[in-house]
Amino acid sequence: MPTPDTYYTRSQADTRQYPALNGRSEGDCIIIGGGLAGLSAALHLARAGRRVIVLEAQTIGCGASGRNGGFVGPGFACGGDAIARRVGRPAAQALHRLSIEGAEMARAEIKALDIPGVNPVPGKLRLRRYNHAADLHAEIDEAARLYDYPLTYLDQRAIREHLDTGRYHHGLLDARAFHIHPLNYARGLAAEIARLGGQVCELSTATGLHLSGATKTVTTAQGQAQAPHVVLATGGYTGPLLGRLRRAMLPIATYVMLSEAAPDLLATAIRTRHAISDNRRAGDYYRLVEGGNRLLWGGRITTRTASPDGIVRQLRREMLGVYPQLSGLKTELAWSGLMAYARHLMPQIGQLSPGVWHATAFGGHGLNTTAIGGRVVAEAILNESDRIRQFAPFGLVWAGGPVGLLAAQLTYWKLQAQDRWSER
Ligand SMILES: Cc1cc2nc3c(=O)[nH]c(=O)nc-3n(C[C@H](O)[C@H](O)[C@H](O)COP(=O)(O)OP(=O)(O)OC[C@H]3O[C@@H](n4cnc5c(N)ncnc54)[C@H](O)[C@@H]3O)c2cc1C
Repeated sequence: MPTPDTYYTRSQADTRQYPALNGRSEGDCIIIGGGLAGLSAALHLARAGRRVIVLEAQTIGCGASGRNGGFVGPGFACGGDAIARRVGRPAAQALHRLSIEGAEMARAEIKALDIPGVNPVPGKLRLRRYNHAADLHAEIDEAARLYDYPLTYLDQRAIREHLDTGRYHHGLLDARAFHIHPLNYARGLAAEIARLGGQVCELSTATGLHLSGATKTVTTAQGQAQAPHVVLATGGYTGPLLGRLRRAMLPIATYVMLSEAAPDLLATAIRTRHAISDNRRAGDYYRLVEGGNRLLWGGRITTRTASPDGIVRQLRREMLGVYPQLSGLKTELAWSGLMAYARHLMPQIGQLSPGVWHATAFGGHGLNTTAIGGRVVAEAILNESDRIRQFAPFGLVWAGGPVGLLAAQLTYWKLQAQDRWSER
């Protein structure tokens, strides 16, 4: 996977390169995957004085973690009701609290480490494209009562103060959510791990694993790392390294485009710096970046990575369906990324065998969940907590291989059709 050309790589603040693993290294924990899940685990372990070795196949944050929409807020890729059906209400509520903690962890790290170029901007509008709002009011009540989490209802008039479109009927303002430059965030975490004495290695694809016995060995092209613990955090880029992990997830591609700099034209449509997403099940999400100069617009999923150029046509059609006044807005750049999804749509966080841990399948909701997911793995390794057990009901179930991919694509088309029906 080559490092993509994205808005984020073009505005990357920390461009240092970390040396590849070379020769033999010993540590307390080897983390495979330099995305946010691996980095979160590594940072917590390094702060506890453990010697960590992070092995990243390409460059830190080059996977989904450094090319996503940048939206940070509570929740999981799986909806709350579906989680509750599986584990019961109290356990689902406890998981939701973890997801809020994950978002707060990201906020706290960015502030405490003063990571350059992350530019957190507060607020997210969650907007509804059809005329039904009763459940939104119930959600506001529940968020306040159970989680002390403020959400504000917006009617169409209030939405139009922010956005010049009649597309949206109702919405929620989540003032505690925020949006960031995710690549700078990931690289800031890596820099802190290195400052604490962790060994961060780029261009170090793990190609061999020896996981039995007290000391585990991970092999790369030029080196060998040894430690009593290994954490696999390879996300949607999980290869054949460990069949059980690979078979338990589906790599799903999704797409983002960036507009030319056109602040005046954009101001005719979008007058808020909040991030925006619509209610559709694989809907659009977008935000102004660069102080309102450009529009970053994401959406669509496919089970095979399509050429971003072809997808741009579809994303533009979506954008113009909401904001016809942006027809003259040029698209400057587009890219895709792979998310890992389990069949149950929840992260897969747990222990495979003594000393062998995994934190993957964060789906399209990874900025908060990787923070807390990496942390609960580290807490388990350090014997600090058993919070990792909250994820036990969502194990490494077989994702169905090519049939699973086909089923995912069919489900997506079905959901799109249902969305269109609701909007009629
Ligand atoms: C376009 C896009 C938009 C998104 N938007 C949002 C959003 O707005 N908000 C949100 O919360 N979530 C969003 N997501 C989801 C979120 O980005 C992911 O869930 C999250 O980043 C996953 O992190 P990760 O660490 O598990 O995986 P990744 O970031 O993909 O990291 C895995 C890393 O493992 C490395 N690797 C793989 N195999 C090996 C190996 N053998 N040896 C060494 N290294 C290896 C890869 O190179 C990669 O860097 C989006 C995702 C995409 C793709």
